[in-house]
Amino acid sequence: MADFQFTLHPITAHPIFWAILFGLVALWALLRFLIIPIQRKRRILQSVAYCPSLLLPVLPKDKDVAIFSPSRRLKFFGYRVNIQQLTCSCSRFRRLRGFYPQNDIRRLCRHLRKELIATNLFNEFDELTRALILFRLRDSCYIREMVLNSEAIFGFHPRTSIVRVYTFRKNSDDPPQGPFTGPVDKFTYHLRQEIWIYGTPPPNCEAILTLIAEIMTACKAKYPKPQRLSTMREELLEPIPVHPDSNEALQIREKRRKATQTTTPLR
Ligand SMILES: [Zn+2]
Repeated sequence: MADFQFTLHPITAHPIFWAILFGLVALWALLRFLIIPIQRKRRILQSVAYCPSLLLPVLPKDKDVAIFSPSRRLKFFGYRVNIQQLTCSCSRFRRLRGFYPQNDIRRLCRHLRKELIATNLFNEFDELTRALILFRLRDSCYIREMVLNSEAIFGFHPRTSIVRVYTFRKNSDDPPQGPFTGPVDKFTYHLRQEIWIYGTPPPNCEAILTLIAEIMTACKAKYPKPQRLSTMREELLEPIPVHPDSNEALQIREKRRKATQTTTPLR
């Protein structure tokens, strides 16, 4: 049988090697478990001032129990969920969603959402709230407003161009100004391109657009000044419109071409 001997690289015999390795691990742990979570929590708490949201109705006290919610990926593994307190033991909740105020709809992680939908109480929520939860909560800010005679929920972030509108579809015999009695649907508007993406616009879309402009102006005014990107980088972030041969698309492509010719790396 061959005589096999395991030997370490000579550098590992040096105490400085272990000191540097230990220092790097300690630095990584400090960033990962202390500094980044504190900063994230601070950002979310600050965002309460400029990001409005919706509150869920408080569930009865008998729901204040821990439920086991199985993990999607790992067999025999799961999370402790409490749908009355809106808490979950998953990492996304601990890192992010759990910092939102009590009963804030943004606390709903995948597991809380799933367990809430599974209860009979979910059907007692109003139709718009139910639809918003079923479509998943992807936005940082939510506002609920009347648009003419129908209600709508707007989901957005003050710094991005996407606004999601959850509202009722129009049935054929509904009056032109509403109230509309069709099912609630999600409509997505792109602010910069000024188009409704993924399908038809919602009913009363002119009034909805006026309201979107008002909401975004008010929220952007309160938003803390972000670190400015260089002009060249901003141009790279500008999306190309859907019609690739339009004048606007050509101009954006030309700006992008110039931006990529700078000496600073852009990615
Ligand atoms: Zn969770």
